[in-house]
Amino acid sequence: MTLTGNLLIGQRSVTGNQPSIRAVDPTTNQPLEPAYPGACGEHVAEACALAWAAFDSYRETPLEQRATFLETIASEIEALGDTLIDRAVAESGLPKARIQGERGRTCTQLRTFARVVRDGEWLDVRVDNAQPERQPLPRADLRQRQVALGPVAVFGASNFPLAFSVAGGDTASALAAGCPVVVKAHGAHPGTSELVGRAVARAVQRCGLAEGVFSLLYGAGTAIGTALVSDPRIKAVGFTGSRSGGIALNQVAQTRPEPIPVYAEMSSINPVFVFDAALHNRGPALAQSFVASLTQGAGQFCTNPGLVIARQGAALQGFIEAAGEHLRQAPAQTMLTPGIFSAYEAGVADLAGNPNATSAASGQPAHGPNQGQAQLFTTHADAFLADPALQAEVFGAASLVVACASDEQVRQVAEHLEGQLTATLHLDEGDIEQARGLLPILERKAGRLLVNGWPTGVEVCDAMVHGGPFPATSDARSTSVGTAAILRFLRPVCYQDFPDALLPTALRQDNPLHVRRLLDGQREA
Ligand code: NAP
Repeated sequence: MTLTGNLLIGQRSVTGNQPSIRAVDPTTNQPLEPAYPGACGEHVAEACALAWAAFDSYRETPLEQRATFLETIASEIEALGDTLIDRAVAESGLPKARIQGERGRTCTQLRTFARVVRDGEWLDVRVDNAQPERQPLPRADLRQRQVALGPVAVFGASNFPLAFSVAGGDTASALAAGCPVVVKAHGAHPGTSELVGRAVARAVQRCGLAEGVFSLLYGAGTAIGTALVSDPRIKAVGFTGSRSGGIALNQVAQTRPEPIPVYAEMSSINPVFVFDAALHNRGPALAQSFVASLTQGAGQFCTNPGLVIARQGAALQGFIEAAGEHLRQAPAQTMLTPGIFSAYEAGVADLAGNPNATSAASGQPAHGPNQGQAQLFTTHADAFLADPALQAEVFGAASLVVACASDEQVRQVAEHLEGQLTATLHLDEGDIEQARGLLPILERKAGRLLVNGWPTGVEVCDAMVHGGPFPATSDARSTSVGTAAILRFLRPVCYQDFPDALLPTALRQDNPLHVRRLLDGQREA
């Protein structure tokens, strides 16, 4: 399939009229064809108008039709075959096997949401039948269901060009909820975005949906994202990227005449607490698995273990030395974009120049453009508690070990942390009580707590939480991975004393959708 460089406004392929973006192969720094001329304000308005026009019909699509639509997107993405894989590899520098795996995850995610849509549990149907004889006052007939929020603006992430981009988790969950989607493609992978965008547009057509259910826009700089989030027809935002970008877009959303929710996943350093018995019993093995997690994918995961916290002593020293040995073997890896590479270099330089941080080991040096060299630093808890710069996210394979003088200092460090996507506990039998003492703090700090594992690798399933307090996300009440992500794009509506014939299908007395309802206070079997 030939790439056109065009915007997709509903079913129309439109050439942009603003400055172009062009992908760069990060392994060579060579620009890739074609150029993607950016959208102007009118293009944004057209896409939003189409999305708004599609909203009322799309949000009431029969569940079977909506589920089939999500499955059709997955099939269309698979049908792109190696064209998609090759382009995503060229634009991201990620290995082919990783991109193939990510395609599998993207399609599984779409099919999982199809299962969720069919099941109908997300409608959260509640029925309180009328009680006309109730004393002293009769009760009205009250029924509640969830409805879609409205068109959603999605900002694709740089680090998952498939699974968190055009047809990734935000898009899949918004479409599942009944929200049309307008995607702002990430400038790092416009070709991948076009291929996937066209796959979604074909699915829209094949399923007989209104064209405004999906649009795809490109644009250099911040103007297009600001225009999209400002458009009054956009009712929610899904974003994955930098802290500054997430905060800026949230501010745009909150200063609109009608503020809207922004689900921005931004910055997390994913603390790992290694308790005494675990450190003593299996420090070298932990060091090895730590470095494997740290360096996976050049460290470009939002769940990368950027902080290790343990009590000082010989066991921690042994852990640092063993981790250093493994890290020194780690090859430098191509990072996603020249910009992300320079941000990594700057973050590492800040740590190297910090008088309170000591370099413990560096990975193998770079032998090509944009290759990030893995780094391990150490510091003491006193310094960590005094210097906020030591908990700044360095996006890439860099981590900091914090040595604590006492259990109390471990607690202080935990309490001092900003909000996180994850917090990990490495513990053995003898560590359980100390870990129990830390849990109330960690539950306040993070969206996912793990024992004896590593935070990289986020399962798409019903129980997953990929979220957490600021700055991990802008709204800690939700997840951007897993089926609960659909809840971000829904809101409840109550219908009082409606005749059955006027009720939405989901709320009718004979329950034609066969959903499990909360009926007069009892959950139906
Ligand atoms: P980014 O710079 O935040 O960009 C993400 C998307 O948001 C892009 O489409 C970008 O558009 C747009 N955007 C950013 N700031 C904006 C603003 N002020 N107004 C309107 N739109 C805006 O993120 P990135 O390029 O993916 O990576 C940069 C850094 O983000 C990394 O070095 C890393 O620190 C962090 N990051 C974190 C995660 C995570 O999961 N926590 C994931 C990826 C990246 P333009 O590109 O057109 O400006």
